[in-house]
This record gives sequence, structure tokens and C-alpha cells, in this order.
Amino acid sequence: MLVFSSVSGILKEISRLRSSNKSIGFVPTMGALHLGHASLIKQSVDENEITIVSVFVNPRQFNNPDDLLKYPRTESQDIALAEHYGASIVFLPEIEEVYSSDFIPPKISLGNLEHLMEGKMRPGHFDGVVQVLSRLFTIVQPNNAYFGLKDFQQVAVVRRLVEALNLPINIVACPIYREITGLAYSSRNQRLSDDQKEEALFIYRSLIKAKKMAQNHTPIEVMNEMIKDYQSSSLELEYFEIVHPKTLETLSDEWVDEAVACVVAYVGEVRLIDNMQIH
Ligand code: AMP
Repeated sequence: MLVFSSVSGILKEISRLRSSNKSIGFVPTMGALHLGHASLIKQSVDENEITIVSVFVNPRQFNNPDDLLKYPRTESQDIALAEHYGASIVFLPEIEEVYSSDFIPPKISLGNLEHLMEGKMRPGHFDGVVQVLSRLFTIVQPNNAYFGLKDFQQVAVVRRLVEALNLPINIVACPIYREITGLAYSSRNQRLSDDQKEEALFIYRSLIKAKKMAQNHTPIEVMNEMIKDYQSSSLELEYFEIVHPKTLETLSDEWVDEAVACVVAYVGEVRLIDNMQIH
């Protein structure tokens, strides 16, 4: 496996791979790799000749400086995990290389995506996501790029980006990978104590309950019940929304097929995100 930290280094390798017509799968990450990331890497390895994993904690997508500061960094373990799951290349660029002086951020309208859920709660977050991915896509030039449905809204943003820039990249949405308990793997879980991990299970259980309730209640009834449940829990709920799978607009009285319940809640200081298709 090759490891690059310079853009010029990886570009040389990419042009070599491109000229020999190798298919490239790309898994962009912010590191602190876990089995959720591994599931994306494995899928890419199965579907492409070459898999490139990037590890870059993108400062431009953090609206909370403390969150950025506390974001776990485990570089050498990340390299080992990527290699173990069959990646061909790990790309660990420095900030100055990603946001070089000649980088011009693309201007893309995200429409409503910017104002709903993560867009509303984390101003500037998706703008940062768009910036980093447009840069990384230009460097890596993948055929397929792999994203976890754990960040459900991010997948919609990435699809919008690829469409707006007319990039020849196939976006592959991968299922949420959970611990046996139901807790979704997340780099932020490293910041939870054992007791807090136990508390965090409330999120998965709430999604399961919402799915059950969806059989004989309206979306608004389910959301209201969830809000009540969180009020009597130890978690602090940021939002619990049941949304249309394509537009991500909040549902109210009527169900649509493949409606998704999206939740963000804090366990202590740690912000956790999860979702489930409930209809
Ligand atoms: P991150 O390093 O948190 O930016 O995540 C990198 C990619 O891994 C994103 O596409 C995430 O959606 C995906 N991912 C993170 N956790 C999981 C998980 N538990 N299951 C599936 N994909 C995940």
C-alpha cells in the first residue's frame, strides 16, 4: 500500500493508474477509522481495482472550534486499518495542500439542503464539505466514491455537488454499520465513557420505536412522541425529524415510501448523529 501526503505525489500515481485504465474507488474520511469506515473500504475494494482512502480532518466543515480541537486523530492506526481492509493508497494531505492559494471553492446552490437539519444546525458545514470534496475529487478522479448513509443528508449534498459540477463520478451510498448493540460506529464514540456508550443506545432504541409506531401513527405523532421520550432521557435532543427520502423535507400528516427518521442528540458533550428508514 502507498501512502501520500503531497498532492504532487498522489497526482503522479493517479495519472499512472488512469493511463493503465484502472478503476478507482475513493473513500473520503476524517480518520479515526473504525469498522463503519472499514465497511466502505471493503465495498470499494470489491468493486474497484484500486481503492484510495483519504484521511483529512477538514477544518472548514466544523462550525464548532471545540469539536474540531477534540476530533480524534489516530494516523498510524488509520493507515494500518486501511491496509488491512485492502486499500491500495492512503492520502493524508496537509491543510495547506488541500486549500492551496490557487484553490477556488465552487459556487453551488444546495437549495433547501442548506436550511434543513444539519444545514440549519451547523451553518457553513455543507459549504465546507462541498469545498473539500470538490478538491479531493479533482485530485483523486475516482470512478466510484463511497459514502455512508449514516450521514444521510451528506449523501444528498454529494449527489448535488457531482451533478452541479457534472463530474463523471458514481456516488455509492453504503448502509450504516452498527455495533451488535445497535450503536452506529462513529469516530466520536471514542470520546464516550463506557457508561455514556450505554446511554447512547437510547438513540438506536428511539429509532426502532419510531419504526414500530410508524405502522399506526402519523409522522408528526411519532416525532412528538420521540421528543417527549428524549425529554425524560439523559440525552439532549437537537432534532428528531421524519423526512422525505429525496427532498429531506419534514413529513407531517402523510407518510411517503422510504421515509427516514433523522436524529441528532448529545451524550454529554458528544454530538451523535443517526437515522433509519422507518416506512
Ligand atoms: P467521517 O470520517 O466521519 O467523515 O466518515 C467518512 C465516511 O464514513 C462518511 O461517508 C460516513 O458517512 C461514513 N461512515 C461513518 N460512520 C459510518 C458507519 N457507522 N456506517 C457506515 N458509514 C459510516
